[in-house]
Amino acid sequence: MAVLYQSARFGNFSYRIGNLSPGDYLVDLHFAEIVNANGPKGMRVFDVFMQEEKVLLEIDIYSIVGANKPLQVVDVRVSVGMDEVLLIRFDGACGSPIVNGICIKNATNVPESLGDHGHLICNGCGTEIEITPAQDKLMRMKSMAKCEKRIKELKIQCQLKTDECYEAWMSLTAANDQLEKVRMGLDNKCFQNLCLDQALEKQAAKLKDVASLYERDKRLWIIAMNELERKILIWKEEHSQLAREAHECASSVPQLNKMVSTIQVLGNIRVFCRCRPLSKEEASAGHAMVVDFSAAKDGELGILTVDVFADASPLVTSVLDGYNVCIFAYGQTGTGKTFTMEGTQQNRGVNYRTLELLFKIAEERKETFTYSISVSALEVYNEQIRDLLDTSPTSKKLEIRQASEGFHHVPGLTEAKIENIKEVWDVLHIGSNARAVGSNNVNEHSSRSHCMLCISVKAKNLINGECTKSKLWLVDLAGSERLAKTEVQGERLKEAQNINRSLSALGDVISSLATKSGHIPYRNSKLTHLLQDSLGGDSKTLMFLQISPSEQDLGETLSSLNFASRVRGVELSPARKQIDISKLQKVKMMLEKTKQEVGSKDDVIQKLEENFQNLEVKAKGNVQLCKNQQEKINELESQLESKTQLCRQLEKQLLQVSEGMKGKEEICSNVQRKVKELENKLKEHDQSENVTALHHKVRELENRLKARTQEFEVHSGMLQQKIAELEEKLRKKEEYATAYCFREMPVTTPYNATVSRVETTIDDMDPPSLRILNHNGSNRAMNTESESDLLKGTNSLRELRRKRQTQWRGSENNILLSASFLEKNSLTAESNKPRH
Ligand code: ADP
Ligand code: MG
Repeated sequence: MAVLYQSARFGNFSYRIGNLSPGDYLVDLHFAEIVNANGPKGMRVFDVFMQEEKVLLEIDIYSIVGANKPLQVVDVRVSVGMDEVLLIRFDGACGSPIVNGICIKNATNVPESLGDHGHLICNGCGTEIEITPAQDKLMRMKSMAKCEKRIKELKIQCQLKTDECYEAWMSLTAANDQLEKVRMGLDNKCFQNLCLDQALEKQAAKLKDVASLYERDKRLWIIAMNELERKILIWKEEHSQLAREAHECASSVPQLNKMVSTIQVLGNIRVFCRCRPLSKEEASAGHAMVVDFSAAKDGELGILTVDVFADASPLVTSVLDGYNVCIFAYGQTGTGKTFTMEGTQQNRGVNYRTLELLFKIAEERKETFTYSISVSALEVYNEQIRDLLDTSPTSKKLEIRQASEGFHHVPGLTEAKIENIKEVWDVLHIGSNARAVGSNNVNEHSSRSHCMLCISVKAKNLINGECTKSKLWLVDLAGSERLAKTEVQGERLKEAQNINRSLSALGDVISSLATKSGHIPYRNSKLTHLLQDSLGGDSKTLMFLQISPSEQDLGETLSSLNFASRVRGVELSPARKQIDISKLQKVKMMLEKTKQEVGSKDDVIQKLEENFQNLEVKAKGNVQLCKNQQEKINELESQLESKTQLCRQLEKQLLQVSEGMKGKEEICSNVQRKVKELENKLKEHDQSENVTALHHKVRELENRLKARTQEFEVHSGMLQQKIAELEEKLRKKEEYATAYCFREMPVTTPYNATVSRVETTIDDMDPPSLRILNHNGSNRAMNTESESDLLKGTNSLRELRRKRQTQWRGSENNILLSASFLEKNSLTAESNKPRH
């Protein structure tokens, strides 16, 4: 065994030790980090190579034992070849390496006797088997190998379990994902179903609304159609009635034309001559009759002897039909003009009888006509108009005016409205009494004025609505005797002149009418002016010529007859009905309006019929729409049914899925439990990190070792004797050894620590384990916890540095490290935690 011990070296360096016989050697390396004011500064990490083989990797003395403490790496086995050279090299990875001493031992020269014989107890039979230290070491090596193998197996199992856990975790995640997808799909289905239900409800509500609206509209339409049908029927009836009335009107037109033509036949002014009988005075005076009626030819002169009114009655009918009529009596005073027109109480004249006839015919026609009859009585005296019915004392001046419609009237003239025949006589009597009466030589009772009775008739045809406004003049002319005969003077003369002027004006008008002159001099006198509407032209005129049969009045009679001849020769134009134009216009307008209304009603009817047809079409369309809606409702109901079934199926599926989910959840929980267990196991494994298990094993082994050490101490006494015996041998061996080893050099450190001899250390620390040696050399087993801390400390430099502060004040320890262990720890430290 060779021991090389040197003082501390600092920096990268190498030893080349020669002259070593080939074989195996055990090399111990002594390190210590000397920290003082003069020592090397800084951290150092370095590698140790032997025979160019790295035996220590990045060893950091400080991190293992701290400063100023020895660290021994023992029993680094190295082979020396035929070149008999051992190369030891220190190579710094960080800072410069430091080494205190190197001990080289010949592995083959290590006396086996130095090793203690261990004892093993057979598990089977309990026999104590003695074993040599080599065997023990071998067994420990084997045990270590087994432990390492076991650790590897456990690692593999741990890896497998980890993989299994990972797979289980992945499958669990996949199952969870699938479950989540199924849940989402289910939620989507539920949501879709809900949406469909809501849409369906909305559609059903809409359909209900549409159906109710349709029913309401249908009822309204039916009511409207019935109303329209009723209105159409009413309008049709009205239309037919109007058509009937129009037809009747149209048919009445020819009848009226016929009447007009009948009147037209009358032609000229009719003249009737009336001759009064000889009065008693004339007869007594012996006046002869000069009028021979029998000699008169037919047609030349009509003589009324019996009923003077019989021929005048048709004219009364004409008045009621709307024609203007004029009846006047012409003749010499005293010839019976007043007698003819007024008559007496017993023998009514033309006036009374005309009115009587008027009321009679009006009464007969009351179904088809309405008449309004009024009477005015006036007197033309001295070319002045006097109202005979005006009872007021102050008589106003009356003038003739022409109305806008063309007829002439006397504004302010009293018109007595006569409702029945009873009132007629009173009116006539009032007029007669009010008449101015003069007196002269011829006839005291003869009137010197023109007494004129105007009967206004307003008629309305109830059938065709035609209105007429006609006048009947009944005129009792003043006497037509010549002025010379009357022998009057003064007022009477003027009176007679006016009378003659008016009568001559009447003659002029008649002459003009006879000659069809363009100008008829109606305005030459008040008489003709008043009679303008009823004398000539389109009116009907009748003249009573009054003559006296006395020879004394022959001249006047002939004159009157001449006048009558001229009057008779007047050819009148066709009579014209005096239609009330204003009313006619109103009627026309009404007719037009009615026609328009009928037309509009026709249009309305047509539109209504069109509307009715449209409504029918719409109703049909609505019915069709209703049918379609009903079909849609049915379809939607069927869809709803199918959706409901689908929903039920989905609910069932949901239940099934939920059950499956429960099962899967159970599986998942089991898997999770397993995972947890595995994780716990993994943690346990991680905690143990295999090294813990190894340490357990180591601990066990140490315990065993401790026990054996105790046994060894017990037997140490016994061995002392043997030691003494062997000292001799030992000295010899030492002499042999000194040939190979260097003499122990003093340490240059201030501590100059005297380390125990290696042999003793080797003897005490047979197993390649970690051991702390006291300074005083007494061996003490290292606390397992301290070992653990130390080992952990290799992984955490800071922790160790913290600890070493606490340990700094304690006694310095020498630490022995197995080279392989140190290398392993260094490697572990390198792989687990990079250095700062
Ligand atoms: P005038 O009006 O023309 O002056 P009146 O009518 O006063 O004439 O008649 C004069 C008289 O003659 C009256 O007394 C009347 O009774 C009488 N008289 C006239 N005509 C007739 C007649 N047709 N028959 C009988 N007497 C008559
Ligand atoms: Mg008279």
